[in-house]
Amino acid sequence: MDCIFCKIAAGEIPCKKIYEDERVLAFFDIQPQAPVHALIIPKTHVASADELTAQTAGVAADVFGAVPKVARACGLTRGYRVITNVGEDGCQSVRHLHCHLLGGRKLPEEMG
Ligand code: 5GP
Ligand code: ZN
Repeated sequence: MDCIFCKIAAGEIPCKKIYEDERVLAFFDIQPQAPVHALIIPKTHVASADELTAQTAGVAADVFGAVPKVARACGLTRGYRVITNVGEDGCQSVRHLHCHLLGGRKLPEEMG
């Protein structure tokens, strides 16, 4: 499958790794939008949160379960924001489920 995040998860494309376990990988975004901008992806391909089912909900749990580990590894002691973009209106550019973890400064109150 021609999916850039599957290739990163497989080690075929390099990344600046923050955290990894058997089910998820976290790495720094190539175009950071905050002082800390991490991405957390499942190693299993799910296109977006909109594709989740009762059978694959564990994939989302794996990603969210890694959030505090990634936040601690990045030194985000004052809070942060977790975002997952979905589809066209959500401006999702990579069709492999991922969470953005943004922090390192006071973020704008506006979210949409
Ligand atoms: P989306 O727009 O789908 O919510 O987020 C995709 C994110 O992936 C973007 O913030 C983009 O900068 C990041 N990204 C795209 N390609 C790569 C890559 O090859 N390496 C890394 N580290 N980040 C990438
Ligand atoms: Zn993928």
